[in-house]
Amino acid sequence: MARVHISIDRLRGKPRDRPPRGVSGEGETCPKCGTHFRAEELVRNARVCTSCSHHFAATARQRLDALADGGEWSEPWTDLRAGDPLRFSDLESYTSRVAKAEAKTDGSGEALSVARLEIQGHPAIAAAMDFGFLGGSMGSVVGEKLARASERAAESGLPLVVITASGGARMQEGILALMQMARSVVAYETMADAHLPVIVVLGHPTTGGVWASFAALGDVTYAEPGALIAFSGPRVIEQTTREKLPDDFGRAETQLANGQIDAVVDRRELPHRIGRVLAILERPRGLEAPPAFVWAQERAQWAAQTLPTLPKRLADRIRGDDGAQG
Ligand SMILES: [Zn+2]
Repeated sequence: MARVHISIDRLRGKPRDRPPRGVSGEGETCPKCGTHFRAEELVRNARVCTSCSHHFAATARQRLDALADGGEWSEPWTDLRAGDPLRFSDLESYTSRVAKAEAKTDGSGEALSVARLEIQGHPAIAAAMDFGFLGGSMGSVVGEKLARASERAAESGLPLVVITASGGARMQEGILALMQMARSVVAYETMADAHLPVIVVLGHPTTGGVWASFAALGDVTYAEPGALIAFSGPRVIEQTTREKLPDDFGRAETQLANGQIDAVVDRRELPHRIGRVLAILERPRGLEAPPAFVWAQERAQWAAQTLPTLPKRLADRIRGDDGAQG
């Protein structure tokens, strides 16, 4: 009996001469300096302008391609899709907006993609957001994927790397979207309980409920140059307060100066930087906790035992105890 081969792409209705992932076919022009790049040049440079270092917007998959060793990673839970519990409709129904967003993206199907990958030889679980999918908004699928990613990381003893790009909670899911803020915090708690690190990379923009929850809670927090990182965007604040905000309001560089993040890192440097952190923090096989954690615990114990009594005496004096009471 002759076998029949049917292309999965054909079943899905995709054109067969589709360009490789991340290459759109046409090039793009840098909005800052006007340099034109061919699509494959942009992919090679992690979608960063080689003339002025402008960071082009990137999809979740493009970010994972740039982060993973050899651009190789596997993605679980691609079948998760948003429900429509509120049967929400404004100018257009929620289901129709989701369907359009899905058709526009390169197959991720939601605003967050999870990957199992290696970064500079260090295995990790990564979760990357896609601003092109309904503004990277956090609905129940984003929360679910993030929760599963942290559980998978904790089970496997692996670190979690989270790359954000989001306008905030997805209003079409109402309170269910806001509940994902708490859920994402619990996901990080899972990592903390397992003594495993979470590294966050803030892409442009990271605002609203995402910045007010998991984006701000990493053990190590990097941001891409020029990324807007704020709860409310400058336009909203200016309209409300009728005051002009400085041009650098909420930018990654401002957040670094204010101590909100650890470093501003060029996207091309990210694999190297994250790889160095993972080399220090990752858990060697057979050990309960990473050496850095054990070392920190031992130091804390040693400090608690050997500190002079001065801090206690000072505290007593501030409270007014100071031996005066009988
Ligand atoms: Zn440029």
